[in-house]
Amino acid sequence: MQDNEKNPVVKFKVITIFPEFFKPMLEFGIFSRAYKKGLIGFETIDLRDFATDNYRSIDDEPYGGGSGMVFKPVPLGKAIKKAKSEKKTKVVYLTPSGKLFNSDLAKELAKEKDLVFICGRYEGIDQRIVDLYVDYEVSIGDYVISGGEPAAMIVIDAIARQVEGVVKEMDSVVKDSFYDGLLDYPHYTRPETYNGLRVPAVLLSGDHKRIELWREKMKLVETLTKRPDLLERARLTETQKKLLKEIKEQLRKLT
Ligand code: SAM
Repeated sequence: MQDNEKNPVVKFKVITIFPEFFKPMLEFGIFSRAYKKGLIGFETIDLRDFATDNYRSIDDEPYGGGSGMVFKPVPLGKAIKKAKSEKKTKVVYLTPSGKLFNSDLAKELAKEKDLVFICGRYEGIDQRIVDLYVDYEVSIGDYVISGGEPAAMIVIDAIARQVEGVVKEMDSVVKDSFYDGLLDYPHYTRPETYNGLRVPAVLLSGDHKRIELWREKMKLVETLTKRPDLLERARLTETQKKLLKEIKEQLRKLT
């Protein structure tokens, strides 16, 4: 899959043994639109093209024995050198041992111009590649999946959303969960009543100030009840602190 040859804000390059995996990203949804507009660049690099034997082999048995195979350093090193077109290029290895990916890391990586992602398979990649070339080791969660490709898709999509213009209205990105450290408020659409459940009256009031306040409050309620750990780290505004105090008092009275 080749780059779209425009002048994108961020360029993503993915080293993989399964380039086809990424085709749907360029065909559907927000990412595909941004790619076609030239806002983001995307390219896959087939690791097997850098194999040094006729079998196009890119993996070998681990030194010291044991199960599974490991990506060999020679083809992978060559692929990385080819992908690093700029001095400032940053290399990301998707790995369960990496830093847990979150909104802050997505924002940080969205400031880069050129990002190379390494998708591992089997037992992973030769450690010397990590030591020599990798700038960020990133994990999508405390579990193991079979390959770095789905992880790369998640991370790339989340980074792309932070690039101005990728999501039509930046306002909706800023209001997404985690952007300000809190979860999103609940959303409703037509009909007003569904299976006996009514839309909260305030959302039908047309009073925008009250609606904003309700949404602000619901973000805090959602976070407090579902992810209280986030509240410990969130930098709350004075209004949010006041609202949170009120919510906690109301909850205390109910129990
Ligand atoms: N032996 C490795 C370990 O226990 O950490 C797991 C290797 S995993 C089967 C194969 C590849 O999938 C990894 O090299 C990595 O690229 C990717 N992968 C698996 N889980 C991941 C996660 N939680 N986050 C990011 N990448 C992951």
